[in-house]
Amino acid sequence: MKKKVLFIDRDGTLILEPPSNFQVDSLEKLEFYPKVIQNMHKISAEMEYELVMVTNQDGLGTTTFPEDDFWLPHNKMLRTFEAEGIKFEKVLIDKSFEYENAPTRKPRTGMLKEYINNSLYDLQNSFMIGDRVTDMELATNLGAKGILIGEPTQDWLFPNPKVEDNVVLISTDWNEIYEFLKLENPNNDYENTQNRTAFVQRKTLETNISINLELDGEGKSDINTGIGFFDHLLEQLAKHARLNLTIQVKGDLHIDQHHSIEDTALALGEAFLKALGNKKGIERYGFFILPMDESLAQVAIDFSGRSYLVWQANFEREKVGEMPTEMFEHFFKSFSDASKSTINIKIEGKNEHHKIESSFKSFARAIKNAIQKTENPNEILSTKGVL
Ligand SMILES: [Mg+2]
Repeated sequence: MKKKVLFIDRDGTLILEPPSNFQVDSLEKLEFYPKVIQNMHKISAEMEYELVMVTNQDGLGTTTFPEDDFWLPHNKMLRTFEAEGIKFEKVLIDKSFEYENAPTRKPRTGMLKEYINNSLYDLQNSFMIGDRVTDMELATNLGAKGILIGEPTQDWLFPNPKVEDNVVLISTDWNEIYEFLKLENPNNDYENTQNRTAFVQRKTLETNISINLELDGEGKSDINTGIGFFDHLLEQLAKHARLNLTIQVKGDLHIDQHHSIEDTALALGEAFLKALGNKKGIERYGFFILPMDESLAQVAIDFSGRSYLVWQANFEREKVGEMPTEMFEHFFKSFSDASKSTINIKIEGKNEHHKIESSFKSFARAIKNAIQKTENPNEILSTKGVL
């Protein structure tokens, strides 16, 4: 089997970067990034990545950054990692200054030639983890994917869309990086430890969406899509399906609500697909008829592995709140596509607000039933044996 690699930046990623001169040149300045040791330990123990540290140390060996000052904290860091079972196969250090444009300096690949065009390595399924845009450029130059340590809400300036598309996760939290990589590596004893949660980040040129979903929740939600009525509907979903749901959306609302609603539905569907995993031991089907004053909403869902939407509803008004009514069907279609579920919805009534709110509540209760655990945790409710 080809080897997968985690290329990992050092400063700002594994250890904190001192704001004074960006140099870790004394023991006092050595401070680990929060939660990096426990998560790197789990990554090392549970996944089969080769670990390669890739770092620029500007002017190392010159009077501004004497070698001795560097190696003392650096070696202490490596020893600490090794004692926790975290071993870097290689530590690659570029000592040039930025103005020198050295071929070895990130984002250039001069130090990593042995990994490129080498049939031993599976770079497509390898990652570069770092806190700079240049680290993400390096990921693209390697043909690997990028994990960016930083605030997902920040306006990152990527040099081109290819680099941006290649960034699969932006986070300041090493727990999230571990969870993300764990979902990329579903082998080993994953099935037994699965906790029915998912973190999904979906970034396009139009939107940046983060979703955290816990299927076995208490109905807690923290939702910010930028569209008030949409937030209200998603809160109903969390509440009545008893999910814990966090949704943060940064979208191009100055254009219109279309992309934010569509991409949120896609990301939410993907989160359900991931959180349900192999769908062992779940009810699979859910259906619910729910009244709200004069309205009646009927929703049936099957997490079948196949996408299909039947939509029997008419809206007279153009908008409810600031949400276009034409987007309701589109929301469910996108959710169905991404979650690979069959959904059948019929809504009757007069009041447009009641009609859509009752459908979301009914949708929530149908989901609650479908994701419920059965008595046999290993059973897949399909004669084909797979969903
Ligand atoms: Mg860095």
